[in-house]
Amino acid sequence: MPQSPTTIVDELGIALSNLADAATGTFTPTMRLGVTGLSRAGKTIFITALVHNLLTGGRLPGFTPLAEGRFIGARLAEYPDATIPRFAYEQHLEALTGKTPIWPESTRRISQLRLVLKYQSSNWLSGWRGPTTLNLDIVDYPGEWLLDLPLLGLSFADWSREALERASRLSSAREAQPFLDLLATIDPQKPANDPDAEKLATAFTAYLRQSREDNAMSTLPPGRFLLPGDLEGSPALTFAPLPQPNQPVRSSSLYAMLEGRYEAYKNQVVRPFFKDHFARLDRQIVLVDTLRALNTGPAAVADLETALTSVLSCFRQGDSNPLTRLVSRRIDRILFAATKADHVHHTSHDRLEAILNRLVANASRKAQFAGAETRSIALAGIRATREGTIVEAGETLPTIIGTPMAGETLGKVKYDGKTEIALFPGDLPERPDSLFEDGTPVSLNFLRFVPPQKLDRNASGDVVLPHIRFDRALDFLLGDRLK
Ligand code: GDP
Repeated sequence: MPQSPTTIVDELGIALSNLADAATGTFTPTMRLGVTGLSRAGKTIFITALVHNLLTGGRLPGFTPLAEGRFIGARLAEYPDATIPRFAYEQHLEALTGKTPIWPESTRRISQLRLVLKYQSSNWLSGWRGPTTLNLDIVDYPGEWLLDLPLLGLSFADWSREALERASRLSSAREAQPFLDLLATIDPQKPANDPDAEKLATAFTAYLRQSREDNAMSTLPPGRFLLPGDLEGSPALTFAPLPQPNQPVRSSSLYAMLEGRYEAYKNQVVRPFFKDHFARLDRQIVLVDTLRALNTGPAAVADLETALTSVLSCFRQGDSNPLTRLVSRRIDRILFAATKADHVHHTSHDRLEAILNRLVANASRKAQFAGAETRSIALAGIRATREGTIVEAGETLPTIIGTPMAGETLGKVKYDGKTEIALFPGDLPERPDSLFEDGTPVSLNFLRFVPPQKLDRNASGDVVLPHIRFDRALDFLLGDRLK
């Protein structure tokens, strides 16, 4: 088919502008950093803190380019792809630093932001030429969407079998029953019709969401059923698993209709996401709310391990699996971060890192095998607590001091969102393996705190966001690229 003139002109334009950039030396290298994690893992907070710290030269002693005095500064720039929503940095920062600071709205879809970083290279040749720039493209996307990758290799019949088998397990009975009851009343070979498709999809979505609520971490595909992003209510999401009929499937049947929608979901939603976004990342940070899982119990920890392994299998490279070839570009560093480390005393931070390390051990071995360097870190993008000690029964206990959010409860006490308390959060196990061996739950006093209400300002009058080990994370993700 002949190409339309506009396409030719566009492509010529792009090629010429690249050439022009290269010729005039204005070509700026770009690093695409993916930020992901399951819902409420802390993506929004991490990115807001990242951008703010880089824009204002925050307190980051562990970030080598800044510590060495080579980091000159950063500015926000227009993102080259105008079709992708922009990460609402200013809005999120305003929520956190306004008159009454509140936590901003969490990630619900993909968004991006470009920062231009200026630094003095330590390499004598580049250094001699003056400051250097790097575009840092930050891509924020729900970890739930990664759970869809395995669907690309599953037919509707295979996926339905797996999904229905899982829904029928005793452990899922409560959440899945309304969907299974509805399914029992519908013959898959009946004529295709929208009301049945919608009813089934609604009941199936309710089951997936309930299952996530009840099990704290359980995450079952399709990922867009959990976080639809811009597809909320669209026909691409109106399907559900159906038992395969014993007779040949009629082309006008409900089964054929839902099978078609499942295939469309794969081709029009899942594949483009991997191809256009995921496959183009250079580095990745995976945020994990490890403490919440620990606090919920051994089943949630096991669930989290499964979800993470599934998420991380996407990063496997050079595999013979044709699906992973789709995403096997060149992620060379993956950082796993246990977020909200300010919920435990600093004496537990190393233990938290060790637990996360253990949780991602299998998956990260595979990534290492494929050439990506991995590391685990415990961090808080924004620290909402301070530390102190209390003496109880003659014993000195390390505490964290903060204001629990309104409605949080501990024992019989319900907090009003205004009262500051000192809390002994409990100890994390010294040996992470103990969590998996005997299934003993970790008993933590775990409360959500309001964000810091009084923030320091630096010499230029910018607010300073307190954090934990955030500088180390930045150093791993960016430090070597600003050499
Ligand atoms: P996501 O965008 O869905 O991954 O999650 P968010 O970044 O919105 O975080 C969800 C919630 O976790 C926030 O509203 C905060 O209550 C809490 N949170 C996230 N990061 C931190 C942190 O560094 N410290 C504390 N104390 N809470 C955090």
